Amino acid sequence: MAKRDYYEVLEVPRNATEEEIKKAYRQKAMKFHPDRNPGDKDAEEKFKEAAEAYEILSDPEKRKRYDQFGHEGVGGAAGGGFSGHGMTMEDIFSNFGDIFESFGGFGGFGGFGGSSRTRSRKTGSRGSNLRVKVALTLEEIAKGTHKKLKVNKYIKCQACNGTGARAGSSPHVCPTCRGTGQIIQTTNTFLGRMQTTSTCPQCGGEGRIITDKCPQCYGDGIVKGEEIIEVDIPAGVADGMTLSLNGRGNAGPKGGPAGDLLIVVEELPHPDFQREGNHLLYELCISISDAILGTTAEVPTLEGKARIKIEPGTQAGKILRLKGKGLPDVNSYKRGDLLVTTNIWIPKNLTSSEREMIEKLRFSENFKPQPDKKEKTFFTRMREFFNS
Ligand SMILES: [Zn+2]
Ligand SMILES: [Zn+2]
Repeated sequence: MAKRDYYEVLEVPRNATEEEIKKAYRQKAMKFHPDRNPGDKDAEEKFKEAAEAYEILSDPEKRKRYDQFGHEGVGGAAGGGFSGHGMTMEDIFSNFGDIFESFGGFGGFGGFGGSSRTRSRKTGSRGSNLRVKVALTLEEIAKGTHKKLKVNKYIKCQACNGTGARAGSSPHVCPTCRGTGQIIQTTNTFLGRMQTTSTCPQCGGEGRIITDKCPQCYGDGIVKGEEIIEVDIPAGVADGMTLSLNGRGNAGPKGGPAGDLLIVVEELPHPDFQREGNHLLYELCISISDAILGTTAEVPTLEGKARIKIEPGTQAGKILRLKGKGLPDVNSYKRGDLLVTTNIWIPKNLTSSEREMIEKLRFSENFKPQPDKKEKTFFTRMREFFNS
């Protein structure tokens, strides 16, 4: 298989700056990362190809040779010499560790290759993200609220200040890699000296080893604990929405950065209202006589009571709209409405005199149902409200 031009692989011009090359490589690496494309051989090949291209183009010496002699100049001719395709994933991760580490908030990958690349060399690994639920009433959602949450999580071990080494002792520099976390092997070839690097097996790439472990955290630098976390919940949030607090999740082992705290909104059911987006639905039950003669009725809102007028001749299923009495929109200044549906109460038990009166009305001309064909059905009106 013919090797592709390295500039073509990274999609950068031949005069690209180091920064541009780095950026292009990051994009490719993120796109084709094996954690994002599990089991996809094609993506894996592309990932390796990009890693190889970056290996050469990020090194001014190698880039110069490549520019002059092409793949031959860097020993990357098909089948011979150094070739990214001969590299293991592990090699790629150890060679390009700093690129991945600088992705920062990208911890969601759950560790690169699921192996030693979850660790950075100088500090410990990033703590994991933590998910907690916060239950909110509609009243709290309407105004926004401030919550204090007690969160059980991994916190920094106070005994060793997160280092993992017994107080008074400190981690030793790894004798195998002398603190670099990498083993560099140099081979002489007819094109010059070639270097390959791999993760140090003794310290797992950390560069330091703890001989005298902290008895509190057994060398991890973190212990189980709890933290009271205060958080402002904006108005208008909905069930299932997640607020992310960077760096407030589990502490990272051996002084590594903390993960994120993800706060998941759980909306508590309300005794009066159903929520539909930012609109609130309320069912008002009125008597037959009020529906016929008209009246005023009291309805609850999230900010107290409101009085509404029931017109004479109100049909069951009529929807009255109280503008702006719904919930605020979390992303704008808009507000939903309160939609009041009328339900007409049909009595089940009648006294004999009531029964007499109703009997009299039964065959009365105006009591015959005369639905207005021009009037929209209940379902059409509901749909219109929700789409507005
Ligand atoms: Zn400790
Ligand atoms: Zn080492």
